[in-house]
Amino acid sequence: MTIANNIVKLKSELPKDVTLVAVSKFKSNEDILEAYHAGQTDFGENYVQELVEKAESLPEDIRWHFIGHLQSNKVKYIVPFVYLIHSVDSLKLLKEINKQAGKIGRIVNCLLQVHIAEEETKTGFSADEFLQLLEGDEILTLENVRVVGVMGMSTFTDDMEQVKAEFAQLSELKKRAKNYIRQNIQLRELSMGMSGDWPIAVEEGSTMVRIGSTIFGVRN
Ligand SMILES: *Cc1c(COP(=O)(O)O)cnc(C)c1O
Repeated sequence: MTIANNIVKLKSELPKDVTLVAVSKFKSNEDILEAYHAGQTDFGENYVQELVEKAESLPEDIRWHFIGHLQSNKVKYIVPFVYLIHSVDSLKLLKEINKQAGKIGRIVNCLLQVHIAEEETKTGFSADEFLQLLEGDEILTLENVRVVGVMGMSTFTDDMEQVKAEFAQLSELKKRAKNYIRQNIQLRELSMGMSGDWPIAVEEGSTMVRIGSTIFGVRN
């Protein structure tokens, strides 16, 4: 299967209202262009420098999603052009995005990463921390960010019942949080599901799947 075929196949399998984010970390511009010419416009990257280099040399209408761990000191490099930051895992990071976005007069769309997996290595807010942040007053002062949803990753396991339970938990949290109507919070997106578990994520209400290896082959 070619990259273009993989894109077409995935799009035919996904519900129309679910956004396919093609995860292109470590992939060449050539591979990305093949996907782009097959109609793919949303791409996800994990590393700031790699993202900046690709954004400079690839078509301007690509919507770049940042999905990796973001260090505060690198926020300024992506804020001018990034379409959506999925991986906001602390209030400190959200404040830095707000500060850098304010300097250039942009409002940057963000998802809050919530920890649903059992593994210690997965970062993000706990469900309680997430709800506290949305309820609190501090978020109202961050006028240059807009929180448009939630992102999560399941435990790396073959136990699909566990994966399903974790995605259901995140979906439930998003539903609960929908009641928080604040000027810079509009929870519409639920970013969950990767190559190995996206069908389950979609069943549980995902609106954005982040898929790498099914499109581009296994990572180099
Ligand atoms: C690499 C990555 C993906 C894509 O993973 P695949 O299993 O290759 O589909 C999705 N989300 C995040 C956060 C990633 O780092």
